[in-house]
Amino acid sequence: MSVSDTVKFYVSADQPPAAPAPTPVLSAPVPPPPPAAAERVREWSFVNVHTGRRVAVSCLRGCTADHDLEQQVPIDPDDVWCQVVDEAVSLPINDSGLPENLCVLRATLNVMPFSTTIAQRLPHVSVEVVQDQWIEGLDPDGLATVIGTLRGQLDRLEVAQAELVAARAEYQSPR
Ligand SMILES: [Zn+2]
Repeated sequence: MSVSDTVKFYVSADQPPAAPAPTPVLSAPVPPPPPAAAERVREWSFVNVHTGRRVAVSCLRGCTADHDLEQQVPIDPDDVWCQVVDEAVSLPINDSGLPENLCVLRATLNVMPFSTTIAQRLPHVSVEVVQDQWIEGLDPDGLATVIGTLRGQLDRLEVAQAELVAARAEYQSPR
């Protein structure tokens, strides 16, 4: 499975429906909410297509991947992919002549527990910089580098915003 295959799945999927608003409770103390489904660790198994043996899997906590098909037919262990997809935000980006709302700076937490690429067997993050354009396979140091780069660029955007305010004031003042 390539990264783009899975990415397409999540990009094309609609956003999950928002949870219904809780009913206001005016007097009685609110009981603690039940653990969210996303917080449970799923346990499942698949048949290794190479050996015919059944292999147990403990999902990454919060994994939202649909593993149903993987449990129904023998698969290559390399294809087991757990993923937690962060909330998406979008900006109107002009990539084709007209501005479109494209996803920006979404992170996914991934683990491929049987990957032939050993580094992918540990949880790692991929960042969707702009829709379908990814920085993949970040370890904590790598993600910190990305965050630092983006933070520095945000500081520059703030400077640009201040300069814009000044430029407009100067442009619109009587000359
Ligand atoms: Zn999973």
